[in-house]
Amino acid sequence: MPRSSAPDRRKYVPPLVRWFAQAGRDLPWRSTGPRDPYRVWISEAMLQQTRVATVIDYYGRFVTRFPDVHSLAKASEAEVLQLWSGLGYYRRARLLHAGACAVVERHGGRFPATRAELEALPGIGPYTAGAIASLAFDAPEPLVDGNVERVFARLFRIEAAQASAELRRRAWELARALCPEQGAGAWNEALMELGALICTPREPRCELCPLAAVCEALHSGRAKELPLPRQRPEPFAVELEVLCARAGGRLLFCRRPEGGRMAGLWELPTRECVPAGMPTRLYPDQWDARLCEQRLRCREHDGKAGGEPIRVRHSITCHRIRATLVAGELDRIPKGEDWQWRTLAEAPSLGLTGMARKFVRSMERAQREQDRASKKA
Ligand code: SF4
Repeated sequence: MPRSSAPDRRKYVPPLVRWFAQAGRDLPWRSTGPRDPYRVWISEAMLQQTRVATVIDYYGRFVTRFPDVHSLAKASEAEVLQLWSGLGYYRRARLLHAGACAVVERHGGRFPATRAELEALPGIGPYTAGAIASLAFDAPEPLVDGNVERVFARLFRIEAAQASAELRRRAWELARALCPEQGAGAWNEALMELGALICTPREPRCELCPLAAVCEALHSGRAKELPLPRQRPEPFAVELEVLCARAGGRLLFCRRPEGGRMAGLWELPTRECVPAGMPTRLYPDQWDARLCEQRLRCREHDGKAGGEPIRVRHSITCHRIRATLVAGELDRIPKGEDWQWRTLAEAPSLGLTGMARKFVRSMERAQREQDRASKKA
């Protein structure tokens, strides 16, 4: 329902900011003093699509290795990806690296403070620009993320679907109208914290909410129903074969090509098993041509003790993957910087895809089981 007038900030900002001062979590990227824009940027990039509990360790390792924008800009992309390995959505890591280089080249290593300059940097969109400008520079800049959308959908009873363009548009309008001239950082952070701790997706804890008195969804009994559910595409199954080619106790890993999904990360060579005539969805339906040139011969499935093949289940967006390990032999070793031989223990230093990490862990487990079985025999 369209609103005729802007909401009254006084009803929303002071109670929420007071609540946040008491109930906000003590997280490693939060501090009571002035915030470092570099650290705001790193934490916000990591927190996109990722749980706080997961981010804490990654954030600590990342800012220890790259304590400022200069050290990040000087690093190789491969090293950044390796520190990011396991956090997913690897494009974020690549864009952080590109963004650090741009801050050094264009601004001499000092973060710009305005939304326009921030949004001109690689990988910084309206949300991240609002976060850096308000949290680090206390500029009166709004922000909207998934938590803020949900809170606004309920506070103002917006009948729109989660993650829809309509909800996003309304949420930005409200964020701009409510953002205070002073203390925008605290307000923005308090809004996101309310969404994370109290106004949660399934079970909002309205009895603890500092904005319960002004919440339209609560007063109309619709708190759990808003925002409306989004239409998701049906998941579909993908079958993969993953090659285990061994030489001298090491396994062959290959780097994923530039320009595609998970570009630059390492994995075991993979192919999709698709019926003839069907399009492939994630991988080619042949082994890499360079492996075929080496006269790859696949033998039986590489298995656990007892002969069962090692299988891994993995999800990428709406793809539900079942991948099976197959043993292979190569006449010659492929050469070039996109191929590496590593032991299982050395493999994580490459910066692996999520599925490759699962295979490495499964193979380590299988190895331990086989060692135990041969000791008993
Ligand atoms: S009262 Fe309930 S639904 Fe409304 S903003 Fe607070 S937690 Fe969310």
